Amino acid sequence: MRLQNKVAIITGGGGGIGRATALKFVEEGARVVISDIQEAKGSETVSMIKERGGDALFIKVDMSKPDEVQSLAEATMNTFGKIDILFNNAGVGSMEKKLPDVSLEEWQQVININLTGVFLGMKYVIPKMEPGSSIINTASIAGIKGQKLVSAYSASKSSVIALTKTAATEFGRKNIRVNAIAPGIIDTDIVEDWKKSEKWPILSTANALRRVGKPEEIANAVLFLASDESSFITGETLIIDGGTLNL
Ligand code: NAD
Repeated sequence: MRLQNKVAIITGGGGGIGRATALKFVEEGARVVISDIQEAKGSETVSMIKERGGDALFIKVDMSKPDEVQSLAEATMNTFGKIDILFNNAGVGSMEKKLPDVSLEEWQQVININLTGVFLGMKYVIPKMEPGSSIINTASIAGIKGQKLVSAYSASKSSVIALTKTAATEFGRKNIRVNAIAPGIIDTDIVEDWKKSEKWPILSTANALRRVGKPEEIANAVLFLASDESSFITGETLIIDGGTLNL
């Protein structure tokens, strides 16, 4: 029960990594607020939690909309009275295209959700957090290495890492920790299209462990960063990608 008496907000909680983390957090004693733009999927996560005897609430939020993110923070306070953990995880992929073919609209859509959404989550939640709280932002290995054909995605995730380090410095004195995770390829809806491509056999084995990751394997790392077990770690980005493949 590493999260006993803790209250957590999980954005993108209707999807693979967010849902797996929500289930893990509840197993460890947390009460969770699931937010997602997809109502059906978010509510399904809440039902799964309740079937297991946990306490959860769904709030529909588009993370790119400031008023909705502000309401998420306020509704969590009204329901549970505090926020100990923010898993800022909602995100979208980019359509694969060479950089000159990316329209300004497509660029802005990805940046608005993946980067501005993470900023807004921290902007509205941090002032409500007490010392000892923990924030985990979802970046990507694409934000460290870059990834061809997904320029907006890679740039958004790289900026999440910089934002994480900045927030960690600003709030360290208050003992609010801010870390990021950088997953490699994880088996969730976001990679469904890739699975149909001829590149999949190569992509899906291009790491030291020669396989894709499972959402639960990310959830375990998020649990560590959310819990007091990581109490002297802040501003870091934990890479969870099956290891570099050195040929
Ligand atoms: P997913 O598609 O299953 O989950 C993403 C969730 O975010 C979905 O439920 C979706 O509805 C929600 N969402 C999308 N736009 C939103 C918005 N504007 N407001 C609120 N919610 C929104 O995929 P996932 O793999 O679980 O993705 C979770 C995070 O992990 C994302 O930030 C993604 O970029 C990141 N990530 C995933 C992988 C991977 O290979 N699966 C790798 C690296 C990083």
